[in-house]
Amino acid sequence: MEAPVPQIWDIQADVVVVGFGAAGACAALEAAGAGSDVVVLDRFQGGGATALSGGVVYAGGGTPQQREAGVSDSPEAMFDYLSLEVGDAASPSTLLEFCQGSPAMLAWLERHGVPFEGSLCPDKTSYPTNRHYLYYSGSELSARDVAPPAPRGHRARGRGTSGGLLFARLAEAVRGSGTHVLEQTSARRLVTDSAGRVVGVECRTLRGAPGWARAAHRVLHRWSAKPYLYAPKLGRALHRPVAWLERRYGRPLLVAARRGVVLAAGGFVANRQMMREHAPAYRGGLPLGTPGDDGSGIRLGTEAGGATAFLDRVSVWRFLSPPAALLSGVLVDRAGLRVCDESRYGAAIGEAIVTRHHGQAWLLVDQATVAAARRQLRGTTLWFQRLQAWYLLTAGRVSAPTVAGLAARAGIDAGGLAATLDAYNSAAAAGLADPAGQPADPAGKPADLVRAQDRPPYSLIDLSVRPRLAYPAPMLTLGGLVVAEETGQVRRADGTTVPGLYAAGRNAVGLCSHSYVSGLSLADCVFSGRRAGRHAAAAIDAWQREAVSEPEGRPKAPRRRAGDTA
Ligand SMILES: Cc1cc2nc3c(=O)[nH]c(=O)nc-3n(C[C@H](O)[C@H](O)[C@H](O)COP(=O)(O)OP(=O)(O)OC[C@H]3O[C@@H](n4cnc5c(N)ncnc54)[C@H](O)[C@@H]3O)c2cc1C
Repeated sequence: MEAPVPQIWDIQADVVVVGFGAAGACAALEAAGAGSDVVVLDRFQGGGATALSGGVVYAGGGTPQQREAGVSDSPEAMFDYLSLEVGDAASPSTLLEFCQGSPAMLAWLERHGVPFEGSLCPDKTSYPTNRHYLYYSGSELSARDVAPPAPRGHRARGRGTSGGLLFARLAEAVRGSGTHVLEQTSARRLVTDSAGRVVGVECRTLRGAPGWARAAHRVLHRWSAKPYLYAPKLGRALHRPVAWLERRYGRPLLVAARRGVVLAAGGFVANRQMMREHAPAYRGGLPLGTPGDDGSGIRLGTEAGGATAFLDRVSVWRFLSPPAALLSGVLVDRAGLRVCDESRYGAAIGEAIVTRHHGQAWLLVDQATVAAARRQLRGTTLWFQRLQAWYLLTAGRVSAPTVAGLAARAGIDAGGLAATLDAYNSAAAAGLADPAGQPADPAGKPADLVRAQDRPPYSLIDLSVRPRLAYPAPMLTLGGLVVAEETGQVRRADGTTVPGLYAAGRNAVGLCSHSYVSGLSLADCVFSGRRAGRHAAAAIDAWQREAVSEPEGRPKAPRRRAGDTA
């Protein structure tokens, strides 16, 4: 979209970053480190999904934390495994660069105050407790025929879900870098010059609004964040006054970007229309994000000519462990057919359930497995995992003394269920004795997790993806604006780039856009955010460019208003 270049800007900077989550913070740090004058703007106070996250960063190839835990890993092994997950979302050369630079990326985060630790979690889990900060966060163990497995989930060291700590440390570093953070300011439109170059951002801000309105906006947004995550209807209701305050008290603000604009405004899981349009199969999942994940950053990019990809890719989570005992169960659909290897990462299981089994799946377990799972609840879970596992082992479970009776109770095909269980129990009997070392299990589950389910009573635990307060299916969007992988510049459909425009994190196609394993989104935010910030800072100053190309023209350099500090 083209607009006349305004002659008077409210604020000017070399690089303007839209969105202050992990990607935006990393872009700002890199651009400021390169000597640029940087402004970051955020619709709220910053943090976004990053601050609510688990703070797990996917890293490997021999990080100090892996060495401390006595784990051996190499960039090649990491590359081989991630090639399976990343698919065509990134080129092999970009993926190799990511893997080879992984220890350095973690060291960069540590230099900016984010702590990590090499305490290895002994169990396969969706998220380690406060005693462990390194774990198998993907499907590495199921892919051992492709690459030697290594734990690569590096959780920032902090109690509870440590995304808050990760963001707080990055935010502190950003503020310390001299970057100007404009809170309560949302980007509404990109400003382009007559040549189509992005030269600024048209915003709406609460700067200058009455103090009570700013305070109410801040507090109400904060209060709605957790309900938004666990009970979206309530969260949306609580957030309505926030949007009203923005409409009522927001005023326009023009921010000039001499070198470039970096879009880092998160995904679109909170935009129900976009979800219906691009990912209709994922109805029933729980939006994992904030009201800021409304796709506005992606929209800004498409309006400037950018192309999108992978918008239909959504990560929906169905973790079986903790408790780890459940990994030995058998996941079946309504026809009684096996869904997949139960030891795979929760998002791989979720995808199999949604895309291949109409969102319906049950875990068949016997009495011994239920008893073992109950015993594991206390020591291996954080409170939210404990609640969900407790629900699954009580209200979410039906049992019967026979397999046929169980199938009837759950409305599952009895013949299919019996055949699947027979095949599984036979594999358990063959188990470790397999001479070729190949998993005997038909779904390829590692032999040490294949345990016969043959002690009645039998149970089926309902893992279907549907709205359930006690056991929601969290989901986040993975696709975004197509970017040039060397620079992070937004690409048009014809492959050319939009001058002056960059994208990062969940605004962009990145390493996790094909499939997500824990830590890969934040790792991609760091990787892509740094890349965009570095290249935006190195771009030619737009005003100098115009002065060179139009020496006779009227002066284009924006004027700074008195009192602006950017
Ligand atoms: C509960 C939970 C747990 C998770 N755990 C992990 C994990 O452990 N590891 C992992 O890799 N991933 C995890 N994820 C996913 C990960 O947190 C996100 O994918 C990632 O943080 C996205 O970062 P981002 O910088 O792209 O966006 P965000 O962190 O969401 O930041 C975007 C910012 O942009 C702002 N914004 C939006 N629109 C505008 C606008 N128009 N103008 C100005 N500002 C705007 C928002 O207010 C927000 O602050 C988790 C997510 C959740 C919700």
